[in-house]
Amino acid sequence: MDPLGATISGLLDGYSSGSFSSEEAVRGFVDRVVAYNARLNALLDFDPEPALEQARAIDARRRSGEPLGPLAGVPIAIKDNICRRGEPTTCCSRMLSNYRPPFDAAVIGKLREADAILLGRLNMDEFAMGSSNETSAYGPARNPWDTDRSPGGSSGGAASAVAASLAPTALGSDTGGSIRQPAALTGTVGLKPTYGRVSRYGLVAFASSLDQIGPFGREVADVARVLSVIAGQDPRDATSVDLPVPDYLTAIESKGERPLRVGIAREFFGEGLDPEIESAVREASRIFESEGATVSKISLPNTTQAIPAYYIVAPAEASSNLARYDGTIFGHRAEDFGPKSEVEKDLPALIRMMMASRAEGFGPEVTRRIMLGTFVLSAGYADQYYVRALKVRRLIRDDYDRAFRDVDVILGPTSPVPAFKVGEKISDPLAMYLLDVYTGPANLAGIPGISLPGGLTKSGLPIGIQLQAPAFAEETLLRAARTFERATDWNTKRPTLD
Ligand code: GLN
Repeated sequence: MDPLGATISGLLDGYSSGSFSSEEAVRGFVDRVVAYNARLNALLDFDPEPALEQARAIDARRRSGEPLGPLAGVPIAIKDNICRRGEPTTCCSRMLSNYRPPFDAAVIGKLREADAILLGRLNMDEFAMGSSNETSAYGPARNPWDTDRSPGGSSGGAASAVAASLAPTALGSDTGGSIRQPAALTGTVGLKPTYGRVSRYGLVAFASSLDQIGPFGREVADVARVLSVIAGQDPRDATSVDLPVPDYLTAIESKGERPLRVGIAREFFGEGLDPEIESAVREASRIFESEGATVSKISLPNTTQAIPAYYIVAPAEASSNLARYDGTIFGHRAEDFGPKSEVEKDLPALIRMMMASRAEGFGPEVTRRIMLGTFVLSAGYADQYYVRALKVRRLIRDDYDRAFRDVDVILGPTSPVPAFKVGEKISDPLAMYLLDVYTGPANLAGIPGISLPGGLTKSGLPIGIQLQAPAFAEETLLRAARTFERATDWNTKRPTLD
């Protein structure tokens, strides 16, 4: 039996045909975690026993002929910012090192109901701020294609784990690209659903108007299956939308009503785009044409302003969301908060405690975001920064609305560069921010996006191509993604770790 190369469909087929049990499959993944995780640092404090126990229980239920959920026996690893009852959920921050939520996130509840097996928590950038997984308090996750390189971020652990077959699938979160960019850098499939498609209840908030939870997998069917389980309206997240949840798996294999219309935005071929990635996207457009799609040039003029707008809106919301971590009710509390300067002597002890707790609890990137966010919201500056950024955001959304009158999906690169070395960009925040150039616009517009394996560079690193679709058009998005996948074999390429 070989559950390891398997996709979710492969696992489910293996279970139902009796080729292998859930316990055997989980053991296979556990063996790989034991063998490779020390090098990859993808999963944190891994305990295989609960997963094996759950697998045995599912095997027993299967033998007794009990009906099982749609992800029965499928192991799934979870980013460390999605709450699981009683389990550490730290956002890879010292600030939350002792946090064990007393509740499950909505998506975790749905995964449990679907009989999925929760495989452990995944490394990430601190509070999901970053594009390389290097801001994690647990150290960087590594890219299985070259362990000197970053798997991207912030869902770096998720991408690394799925690419290295430590888990067949994983949940990440995407605020400005944190599912799609790491998927691109690791040759996996990563889906950011429409804002409002999946409940954010129990996702530790970074930028609430941008955050979405979404799946990683090895093929389009994987993310379609997981999306069908986690999507849907939830009264605990007022921004989740009350629309029926289609069966995405059936949707991807169905024929569209008319030939697919693919748009290529000229703004998605900007300065700094790696030429090998550019040619992979051009090749992808030829593949779409040969599959019967029409490809046309479009323009999204305001998306060139997405980075400045994003790096105002996201830090603004973050500074507000993270204000609660001050050591009183939430977050790490400093033990020593005696005055450290003349000025501090005059401050009340409570204020000194908050200051010391925040200084100790947050790493440098999170601190930078809080300062940026507080500044752009401050009296006298908010109009120049925050309010203007909201206007740009609106223009970007309008660009997409206009474009989607003529095309069904927009094709482009996911990341401007393939996987870069750990340490290469971490001391240059601006260089790191620029990595979001092709992913941030979808978050600002609230639309769904997917990254797919679309090639390998000459030096053997994965290239990701991105598709975007109108809000709540995940069926179209996934169908288009599947059209590309069917015509290529990039998703079958695997890194060699031995
Ligand atoms: N790289 C972006 C940032 O640092 C996006 C992160 C994310 O999507 N969580 O904010």
